[in-house]
Amino acid sequence: VFRNKLDFFAAAKIPSSFPPPTIPEIAFAGVSNVGKSSLLNALTRQWGIVRTSDKPGLTQSINFFKLASKLCLVDLPGYGFAYAKDEVKESWQELVKEYVSNRVGLDRVCLLVHTKRGMKPLDYELIDLMERYKTPYQIVLTKTDLVFPIDVARRAMEIQESLKKNKSVVKPVMMVSSKTGAGIRNLRGVLGKLARF
Ligand code: GDP
Repeated sequence: VFRNKLDFFAAAKIPSSFPPPTIPEIAFAGVSNVGKSSLLNALTRQWGIVRTSDKPGLTQSINFFKLASKLCLVDLPGYGFAYAKDEVKESWQELVKEYVSNRVGLDRVCLLVHTKRGMKPLDYELIDLMERYKTPYQIVLTKTDLVFPIDVARRAMEIQESLKKNKSVVKPVMMVSSKTGAGIRNLRGVLGKLARF
């Protein structure tokens, strides 16, 4: 499915402008700088064409993309910019939270976690919400090339352990490097299963 052409089709700054859900949907979330854009680029090989700017201070939107009419990929604004204004920060977080709690037809949220830095409080906040609303989510460790393989495995185990009692988490923890391409095909395979054929 990732061979299909990627088309941008909607941007939403408020929940009432989310497009109606019609095809399977996968969203990508994570703290800013976690490597989300790079991962979307690696997965689709076409992200550069549609990539929107992700700079702090600008109003952030949730962006919806289609791979043919088979799969919808949703780019959630990165949260936790240390230097964003409080009110700007809050509005992004509220939008992301609303989306992961109440989006009808949301099949999976890929929660991206920086392998070297691990989970942040905002990640756990999002996880709590997804548990409460039974939104299926999967952890994707990014930038695995920055640490030794043993440390990648350790990080994955640590996260798996911390989510042991959670019900909506989809296993296993995935591991990718957009830089080397490690794990990308594997992730495409896992996510591709959710597509409509
Ligand atoms: P975003 O803010 O989550 O969209 O993150 P970006 O994709 O823009 O990446 C943030 C920074 O991390 C950039 O400087 C990227 O070049 C770098 N980066 C992204 N993915 C990787 C990776 O797999 N390995 C390494 N070493 N750096 C990465």
